[in-house]
Amino acid sequence: MNLSRRRMLRIAGSSGLAVVAGSALAIGQESPAFAAQKNWRWCVKCQGLWFFGNSKWGACPASPNGHSIDGSGNYSLLSSSDGGSGQTNWRWCFKCQGLWFFGNSSWGACPASPNGHSIDGSGSYKIEFASVGGGQAGWRWCWKCQGLMFFGNSKLGACPASSIGHGPEKSAVYQLRFA
Ligand SMILES: [Zn+2]
Ligand SMILES: [Zn+2]
Repeated sequence: MNLSRRRMLRIAGSSGLAVVAGSALAIGQESPAFAAQKNWRWCVKCQGLWFFGNSKWGACPASPNGHSIDGSGNYSLLSSSDGGSGQTNWRWCFKCQGLWFFGNSSWGACPASPNGHSIDGSGSYKIEFASVGGGQAGWRWCWKCQGLMFFGNSKLGACPASSIGHGPEKSAVYQLRFA
């Protein structure tokens, strides 16, 4: 957590690709997703939410070329330490660039790794429930891959854990805000 905080300060407001020497975690030449942060996108191919701020397309379960930004707004996520209500313990995965829920003692399924998602380098994010209002409703947690996915198109999208797509049926309804 201390490392995450230091990284957060380092890259705030910058293009973020320079990793300071002496970093304890070997997570490569990319910046971690930090809290209360813009540049999250919806992927039309897999319906997932992913971080576009690392100049990487990540890994998409629906495409060998990575996620897409086509048709997506620019979403902003809260840090778990920010005020207001919501569910904490969401994390960014540096392997696939996706957002996923870390509160279930499961690493979920990651399209970039057989070992599931990673929490390395990520802050803890807070996702609001749609009942709060003021955002775009229709977002769901997938119990199969632990990812956040948009169900407002009535499409299940592609899930790295299931050939029939994401599983939104056990989820509360979440909302996201535009940056
Ligand atoms: Zn995708
Ligand atoms: Zn899924």
